Amino acid sequence: MSGFGGDAATTPGGTPLSPACQNLVRVHAECAICFNPLCMEPCVVLMESEATRPADRQLRRVCRHYFHQACINDVRDGRCPMCRVDFASTPVLPNALEHPDEWFHTVDANADGGLNYEEAIEGLKTCLDLDWRKIETDADTLWPRWDPDRNGKVSLEEANTPGTGMFAYLKEHYPKAERPPAPSIRSRPRDWFAYWDEDHSNSLDKDELCRAIIKTARMTAGACEIRAVHSFLDSTWFLFDPNGDGTLSINEFVAREGMHETLCASFPPDAL
Ligand SMILES: [Zn+2]
Ligand SMILES: [Zn+2]
Repeated sequence: MSGFGGDAATTPGGTPLSPACQNLVRVHAECAICFNPLCMEPCVVLMESEATRPADRQLRRVCRHYFHQACINDVRDGRCPMCRVDFASTPVLPNALEHPDEWFHTVDANADGGLNYEEAIEGLKTCLDLDWRKIETDADTLWPRWDPDRNGKVSLEEANTPGTGMFAYLKEHYPKAERPPAPSIRSRPRDWFAYWDEDHSNSLDKDELCRAIIKTARMTAGACEIRAVHSFLDSTWFLFDPNGDGTLSINEFVAREGMHETLCASFPPDAL
């Protein structure tokens, strides 16, 4: 799938997501619009236009990104929210275990008959509630089993091999990943901050904080609340980041009249 666009993820406002947040979205297999796990809802891929497709090949995906179907429906400009490439349609990604052949052909966007490691893992994480840490840790062991002819790609036939194929192995070995719930932002703000500081940088940048707020507030209903969080942070960030380094330390976060107090005052108790 070479030749796909870059990884310049953008917020709904059109500004690039920070590298730290892009990485979070990727490793957690989250929708970059709502920050919920992709596997929670039907997901789509982004396809090129029939009008511009060369006659000698079938339709391709315009990029490697996946989004919730409900979230991409709110995208009005016809461009991928991650890489800004134009798309024409948004077919749903079938579930890998329920419809393996259809899943395979959708993920194999360049129609070369095989999935390389990155394509396979990203496609699987998108539709299955898998423990992604375990998969990535076990990759060296798993991949030779899934690609026994060692050509660097898993064919559909290899994927369907009983017992050792990718589909059989995943079904058997990868139960749901569990992470304990986040501490309360109201009663344990320092613990809440540490929970969302997943790269252990002792700071949260604006996008990391936005993601944490959206997840904490369970703002899954639509893009409007999500945009409200972005604009709240865009318009108030300078108040809470007096040294202007683009990140909040724990002490800046919990300071008197700081971000924590303002957040708790701005959201009803049952929301945050
Ligand atoms: Zn989403
Ligand atoms: Zn994209």
